[in-house]
Amino acid sequence: MSETIDERIARLHRHGVIDMHFDLPMDLYDKRARENVLATDFLEDLEAGDIGVTGAAIYIDDRYLPEMGLRIALDQIARLYLEVGESSRCAICRSYQEILRAREQNKITFLLTMEGIEPLGADLDLLRAFYELGLRSLCLTHARRNAAGDGGLFAPSGSPRDGLTPFGRDVIRECEKLGIIIDLAHISPAGFDDIIEMTTKPVIISHTNARKYYDIERNVTDEQIKAVGARAGVIGINAVLVSPQKEEATLDRYIDHIEHVRDLIGIDGVAIGFDFFEFIYRQWSEGEQVAFQNKFTHAHFVPELAKHSHSRGLTRRLIERGFGDEEIEKILFRNWMRIFEQWLGE
Ligand SMILES: [Zn+2]
Repeated sequence: MSETIDERIARLHRHGVIDMHFDLPMDLYDKRARENVLATDFLEDLEAGDIGVTGAAIYIDDRYLPEMGLRIALDQIARLYLEVGESSRCAICRSYQEILRAREQNKITFLLTMEGIEPLGADLDLLRAFYELGLRSLCLTHARRNAAGDGGLFAPSGSPRDGLTPFGRDVIRECEKLGIIIDLAHISPAGFDDIIEMTTKPVIISHTNARKYYDIERNVTDEQIKAVGARAGVIGINAVLVSPQKEEATLDRYIDHIEHVRDLIGIDGVAIGFDFFEFIYRQWSEGEQVAFQNKFTHAHFVPELAKHSHSRGLTRRLIERGFGDEEIEKILFRNWMRIFEQWLGE
């Protein structure tokens, strides 16, 4: 008997889907008054989507900066370790081998990442401390200036042209030395060029979109996509900035971003960085939502791709759009696993 599409999806998901950007630590911290938040609020959804690995991103909200940045980052890590420790279904991994072992046991695995170096202040020694706590991937900035450089604007032009600061360059060199994956998400175009120029390893963009479909400097141009491809890097496609138009923020447009990157740099360069964020957004007051819209952009969430359990629908649509099994496996997990092997070694 021939395989049904559901059987094919299950087969393609058998190794687990990898999502390299998930704002989980911030949410665990915000809900720290409750117990078992991971198990209660997230586990069912992660399991329904066959999620194998997520990049769990430390991010510090503006209201805590600058004084509280380090403390909140440590608190977020503490919450993640506490919550994961209480679930036999989950694990935090620090190396490629640990990821392989955890996946053999079918555990949902978290890789600790950081979005913006604000917790370091301008103290390079703290990067070593975070590495020892499990930090394995780092993007220098969010959409703001810090001691390392500037984030790209949510606008077609106007990001600062300064590039990285001397401290930003030190952080990049130290990441290469320690084995922390260098993530170009959010960095300004000038900072992007600086990092490409001063590094040699395969850099990643954990969560971004093509400016072809959403033209803001927070996203990436064809030239930037090619620069990552030339380095054998990987770009994770973001489910939040799919289109500036509500009616075009669809699953098909999400796949258009995947196709665009594939057509420019090949199937080895494109993967998943969902950045699911609607669940946090919906928890905010109307005032906070408006403040977010004014500061960044009017995010049009994709109804069919708003949470991890929607991964199966993504795979179904990739099949319907003619992607082959090998291509889909690379998008869903093989490309990120290659990056983990190259950067996180034994
Ligand atoms: Zn982000």
